[in-house]
Order: sequence, then C-alpha cells, then structure tokens
Amino acid sequence: MSVTHTLEADVLRRQDPQLADILHGELDRQSTTLQLIAAENFTSPAVLAALGSPLANKYAEGYPGSRYHGGCEMVDVAERLAVERARDLFGAEHANVQSHSGSSAVLAAYAALLRPGDTVLALGLPYGGHLTHGSPANFSGRWFDFVPYGVDAETGLIDHDQVRTLARTHRPKAIVCGSIAYPRHIDHAFFREVADEVGAYLIADAAHPIGLVAGGAAPSPVPYADIVCATTHKVLRGPRGGMLLCGSDLAERVDRAVFPFTQGGAQMHTVAAKAVAFGEAATPAFAAYAHQVVANARTLAAGLAAQGLVVTTGGTDTHLITADPSPLGVDGRTARLRLAAAGVVLDCCALPHGDVRGLRLGTAAVTTQGMGEEEMVRVAALIARVLRGEGESHTAREEVRELAGGFPPYPR
Ligand SMILES: *Cc1c(COP(=O)(O)O)cnc(C)c1O
Repeated sequence: MSVTHTLEADVLRRQDPQLADILHGELDRQSTTLQLIAAENFTSPAVLAALGSPLANKYAEGYPGSRYHGGCEMVDVAERLAVERARDLFGAEHANVQSHSGSSAVLAAYAALLRPGDTVLALGLPYGGHLTHGSPANFSGRWFDFVPYGVDAETGLIDHDQVRTLARTHRPKAIVCGSIAYPRHIDHAFFREVADEVGAYLIADAAHPIGLVAGGAAPSPVPYADIVCATTHKVLRGPRGGMLLCGSDLAERVDRAVFPFTQGGAQMHTVAAKAVAFGEAATPAFAAYAHQVVANARTLAAGLAAQGLVVTTGGTDTHLITADPSPLGVDGRTARLRLAAAGVVLDCCALPHGDVRGLRLGTAAVTTQGMGEEEMVRVAALIARVLRGEGESHTAREEVRELAGGFPPYPR
C-alpha cells in the first residue's frame, strides 16, 4: 500500500476525480494566495505522509501498554515516541498527545482540575480569550463561572493589576493565561505568583505560541503552569490536534481527563504525525524558522504601522499581529473582504479599545514558504494599497500570485 501523501495519490484521481479536483483546487488556492491567518501553517510532506498512513485504520482506546483493543503493538511504539519527543522538546515531566484539538485539550484540563460551577479567571473574549475561556456558546461558559480580565485600552497589554485584584476578590479555582490574539509574551511568572497567592491552579493555553516555545523564540509556560494546553497545528507546524503538558503529580488526572472522560479512541495517524512534527521541531532548522517567524512579524507590523494602520501594543513579540485599519478608511470586515479578493487571506478580530473590529495576521505560514523580511515589507505595502482602494483589484491579485509563486509551499 502506498504511504505517500494525498496530493500524490494517483489512486484518488482514478477512483474519485471529483474529490481529487477539490484537493488540487485547495492546493492551488494555498499556493497562489497569501496565508496570513495567524493559526495556519504548512505541514511538511512527512507529516502529511503519517496522516495519510494505514495508522488511520487502528482503534486504540487507552494508553500504550494498557489498551482496550488488540493489535496495538505498533501504534503503542508510535505513541510512546510522540510522548517522549514532546517531553524532551518542552522539558515537561508528562505529555498527553491524544487530544483531538486545542479545544479538546482545554476541556481535558478543566476536567482534570475543576468541578462544574467552579470559578475560573481568564482573558475576556473581547480581548482575545478563546471560546473555551468562558463563552456562553461553549461548554466552558455553561459549566463554569468565568470571571474575565482584560487588557489596558491604551496600551493593549494585559492589565496585571486587574488580574491580581479579580483573583483576590473572586478566589478562582483556576486562572487561565493564553489568547487567540495577544501579540506579546505572557508573563507566566506573574500569573504563577497570583495563582499561588489565591491558591488557584494555573492553566496556560499556549495554543498559539507553543511552536515559538519549541524553537526557543518565546518563553516557556512549562515551568510555571500546572497544565499547559496546546495545539500542534499552528506555529508548531504539525497535524491538526491538541496536547497537554504537566508535572508527574497531575499525569494520571490529565490522562484520565482525556480518555475516558472526554474522548474515545485516539487517532493514531494523527498521534504518529505529531511524533514526526515534534522530531522536526527539535532541529536547529526549526529554531531558525521560529526566530524568522518573529523577525518577519516584527517587520510586517512595522510596515503596517508605517502605512498608517494602528498596530495593537505598537508591535509584536510573536508571530501574531492585530491592527486597526480604520485610519485607511475601512473597517475590519470590509478590509478582510477586500484583501481576500486580492488573494490576501487573514482574519478579523476584536480590538482592545471598544468594539472596533480589526485585522489579525500571522507569519507562520509565509515563513514556512521561505519568505523573509524583504517580502514582509512588500506585503505591508500591498495590504495598504488594497485597503486604500488604490489601483485595480486584479493588479493586486496578480502581484499576490506572482509573489506566492516564488515560494511554493510544496514541491510540484
Ligand atoms: C486555536 C486555539 C484553541 C483551539 O484550538 P482548536 O484546535 O481550534 O480547537 C484554543 N485556545 C487558544 C488560545 C487557541 O488559540
């Protein structure tokens, strides 16, 4: 059986040309537009190969050495390898690599530490908290009593005084630090200190920066948090999925919280692909990549600011930028649509000051393609031109096609 990745699978084209066309259409879209969605990246062909492997066939409830199914000899080795590599990569005593997604990892962290009705302090959704940080539309907001902290409206930085005051007033069972849109490093030592003062657990939701942590380009939450939740598919560049890191003291609670409390059988092809990604992330080449991601984001942020956009916190420490395009005469939503028409793909997000919608961008994917700071200067200028409505929109689309064409994400 072929273990090559889907894009090379002639078998799919022969059997199901309709779906093969869809896959190739998506590859074409990814190769001819600019992927500036902060949560996206291009996994390696090796990761795709593991995802498209016969491990997808295997049922494996439980953990290596104690499964509810027979025939787990090989997948046990794969999962042990993934766990070992994750532990080594992040210097954690324990790793659980079975979470199906970042949200599942957060759910498991809550399940390990909390009971329904417990009070939890987390960054409010309007300031960049994730759905799982207390949204009423999510289990978190329904089952726990979330108290939101915010960011300073002027600086865009987490309001540490407010965090401390709210912690003292509400005595939460857990404090969550981590965000979908915070461009700066999080002060884990500060959160640990506040958690200790009020006797709370500290959960770091490092879904975004964990890849920078792996490459030594961002400070690690591992020495400070009781549990670190993360995704494996953002800057970390692995398969779509989640993971949890913790000390040996919480290992058993975390494992039980994932299986059997919140999930069934592990997806062993994804677990194997996570092992591949952890192996890649441990290389000097990945460290260089992570630092380039940040350098590119800083250059892109400076470029956008020079073009008149208001960049939240004045810049970035990470792969992620949020910016208000309104000085150029467009709101966030219009800006996103205009940019999409030009082939520049990014998200809208809430901005700290009031209910203005802004833009959220990230440099993980374009850096994987090999783009550098020179290209980021060009991208900033291009974005500003599109937002100002200068020139024909098809000219911008052509320029994007030409730029992306120079940096194919996969060999063709
Ligand atoms: C992306 C993200 C998640 C959720 O990950 P999914 O894989 O989409 O479920 C959770 N928390 C934070 C902070 C994130 O950025």
